[in-house]
Amino acid sequence: MRKLVILGAGTAGTMMLNKLYNALDLKDWSITIVDKEETHYYQPGFLFIPFEIYTRRDVIKPKRDFFPSGVEVIMSEIERIEPDKNRVILANNRVLPYDYLIIATGSRVDPNEVEGMKDKLWYKNVFDFYTIEGACALGNLFKHWDGGRLVIHITEMPIKCPVAPLEFAFLADWYFTERGIRDKVDIHFVTPLPGAFTKPRASAILGDFLEKKNIKLVTDFNIARVDNDEKKIVSWDEIEVPFDVLVTIPTNKGDEAIARSGMGDVLNFIPTDKHTLLAEGFDNIFVIGDATNLPSSKAGSVAHFQSEILFENFLDVIDGRKPTAKFDGHANCFIESGFGKGILIDFNYDTEPLPGKFPLPGIGPFSLLEETKMNHYGKVMFRWMYWNFLLKGIELPIESHMTMAGKRL
Ligand SMILES: Cc1cc2nc3c(=O)[nH]c(=O)nc-3n(C[C@H](O)[C@H](O)[C@H](O)COP(=O)(O)OP(=O)(O)OC[C@H]3O[C@@H](n4cnc5c(N)ncnc54)[C@H](O)[C@@H]3O)c2cc1C
Repeated sequence: MRKLVILGAGTAGTMMLNKLYNALDLKDWSITIVDKEETHYYQPGFLFIPFEIYTRRDVIKPKRDFFPSGVEVIMSEIERIEPDKNRVILANNRVLPYDYLIIATGSRVDPNEVEGMKDKLWYKNVFDFYTIEGACALGNLFKHWDGGRLVIHITEMPIKCPVAPLEFAFLADWYFTERGIRDKVDIHFVTPLPGAFTKPRASAILGDFLEKKNIKLVTDFNIARVDNDEKKIVSWDEIEVPFDVLVTIPTNKGDEAIARSGMGDVLNFIPTDKHTLLAEGFDNIFVIGDATNLPSSKAGSVAHFQSEILFENFLDVIDGRKPTAKFDGHANCFIESGFGKGILIDFNYDTEPLPGKFPLPGIGPFSLLEETKMNHYGKVMFRWMYWNFLLKGIELPIESHMTMAGKRL
């Protein structure tokens, strides 16, 4: 009996479980999945909670609804991986030996990385929206807020869904307009990047959107501390940005179990081969999703494209062949821009987001780097696709490799 252990039953781990369950013969294989939480969170939905579009109930389902029968499910904290002994140690000291391991432990925010961030103003005037708790606390505040200086801030890259902070700014503009108090809300977008986004062409277009919506952009801001007494963020070069409400994206890090295993970089992300998705230095450990150190976006869509590559490579490796499928860094992200519209970007390691149509050249129905109602419907539809197709490992009619068809140079 060969043993496959999957660590993490979030987006990527659940997709891999379902894909491999259908491909492996359970007479020869035992499959185990480990996670510490019973609840699956649809994290892209966290964006909408502060603006009363979704509630907590709209973004949660039991994880077990997505596990096929015949799979061993262990709900436990992972203590560490001992890759030289091919085994995982769980919190209660239970030992899980494996022949093959898939690590899908994701990333999480750590506000303790910045002095003063998680201090007396935390969840009073300083919030995150990358956790369910933060998104709900912010929702409670926004409902009754009568305006002031709203600062949306990114601590450092990489972060999951790098467009989410921009979407938050666009939705804030829409939400406070709807509430009739936009003139009382002064919105600032503060980033460590030199522009609105990581890729030059998209950055210029998204920067124009910020300007059009009267959202002030502060670039190259590397935060040193949050001053709780004077309600301001201060950079290492002593630039100060005051706030009434600070919505920050704290440092994103891989899980502590990765650090305890000695397998991570300084942010606990796992060095991973950018094409095969094997953990560097190992031929029986794959890494997928936000847990990798890859220069691709940390996004559910990316985890989905990676899952198709990992699937092929896994079947190669267990049959003694070299892994031949290559992940190209493909990312596809809908950006909600407010007032019922959205923007779509599609890119990979080598090609930045370009204008055009997607997925059908000349037809779409989605438009790249353009604001349309159809792109907004794409974003709204994503939740349904996520629960019904993505997590179940069902193929989508979108290539895992990025294509230039439909794109304009
Ligand atoms: C606000 C927000 C908006 C987003 N918007 C989008 C979007 O529009 N489109 C998009 O494609 N993506 C979006 N994303 C990103 C997307 O949600 C993530 O990239 C995706 O969930 C990553 O999947 P993963 O499996 O790698 O990690 P996760 O889904 O986070 O799963 C990791 C799992 O590992 C478990 N785990 C970790 N450590 C341990 C341990 N020590 N012991 C036991 N269990 C452990 C966790 O409990 C969790 O279940 C967004 C994310 C956020 C926060």
